[in-house]
Amino acid sequence: MSIFEELAEFGCEQILFCRDEATGLRAIVAIHDTTLGPALGGCRMWPYGTEEEAVTDVLRLSRGMTYKAAVSGLALGGGKSVIIGDPDRDKSPELFRAFGRFVDSLGGRYIVAEDVGTTPEDMERVRSETPHVAGLDAARGGSGDPSVFTALGVLAGMRACVEEVYGSPSLEGRTVAVQGLGHVGYRLCRLLHEEGARLVVADLRPDAVARAVGEFGAEAVEPAGILSVPCDVLAPCALGAVVSDATLPHLRCSVVAGSANNVLAEGRHGEALRDRGILYAPDYVINAGGLINVSGELEGYDEGRARGRVARIYDSVKNVVEISKRDGVPTNAAADRLALERLGAGRRPLAAAG
Ligand code: NAD
Repeated sequence: MSIFEELAEFGCEQILFCRDEATGLRAIVAIHDTTLGPALGGCRMWPYGTEEEAVTDVLRLSRGMTYKAAVSGLALGGGKSVIIGDPDRDKSPELFRAFGRFVDSLGGRYIVAEDVGTTPEDMERVRSETPHVAGLDAARGGSGDPSVFTALGVLAGMRACVEEVYGSPSLEGRTVAVQGLGHVGYRLCRLLHEEGARLVVADLRPDAVARAVGEFGAEAVEPAGILSVPCDVLAPCALGAVVSDATLPHLRCSVVAGSANNVLAEGRHGEALRDRGILYAPDYVINAGGLINVSGELEGYDEGRARGRVARIYDSVKNVVEISKRDGVPTNAAADRLALERLGAGRRPLAAAG
């Protein structure tokens, strides 16, 4: 497939290949769609096996950012960048400064943030060359740790799901099974505990499990058993592909609502969940709290305002559920429709010829 065919397949506007002789930088920036605003998205550093793999990954990830921003009602487009290299071996301050100069050359059409393989320190280096960086430390006037807001957003989206299924958004007395007690999962457990939910948890790290048991009275189960726990809500906060042909028959929940990306192994598993009467909160809708928070930096960060906007993930999930019912499609397809509706509304009609 030619590069332009691949851009067309992903609906991507622009791609920039960046090469710097002195530092060995090889990076790709994908500006997927700027209909709703500048393209914001993280910079991933990864030792891709081939250049084709890197191109496909940056296109796929940038499209995801466009959809996520659109369903969240943000005045932002979607973009992403990748640096080809091993984050443990190939980093240098000069490499990130060289990358920053490329970001700067885009004049604000692309705003970079950290992602897998990059750190706040790397972003500081990028920032020495361009102002178009988001996701800085709170101490430097930035929006701080995104996982706090991701957890808040998951809670808001979970409330919308529980209301749809049980008639009340309250999580008091509900059993929530949380897979993964990392940055988001642990914070989510704390919020759920404060709401009076009953927690069942699993993590590969025994210390993380012990902390949740000690602090929140959670019941611990083995990682292999968490997906089949009888519960009201299953909250995947660890890995992707949690819902697959192999796991579907074992799920014993009414709602799937967590922070993990790519929860469905394949799109068709959204339909399969619906057939089983399980309400699925699409990943990029419910886990947008971090993006919503970081986007506040573009207008001068204000934590109170960010919290208010993240709470609206409740409305976004409600919206998706309504579209799902209106159009008779699973919620994952409904989320894509909502994103495309917002993008369509944002596109100005072409001026009449002549
Ligand atoms: P993290 O790395 O801090 O935590 C993940 C936790 O999952 C770890 O404690 C790990 O031990 C555990 N884990 C891994 N495999 C497991 C398994 N098989 N069973 C049980 N536990 C397992 O990551 P995080 O930042 O908390 O993010 C969690 C998920 O949410 C990821 O999929 C991430 O992509 C997604 N997400 C995170 C954010 C954010 O703000 N951090 C935003 C959007 C999406």
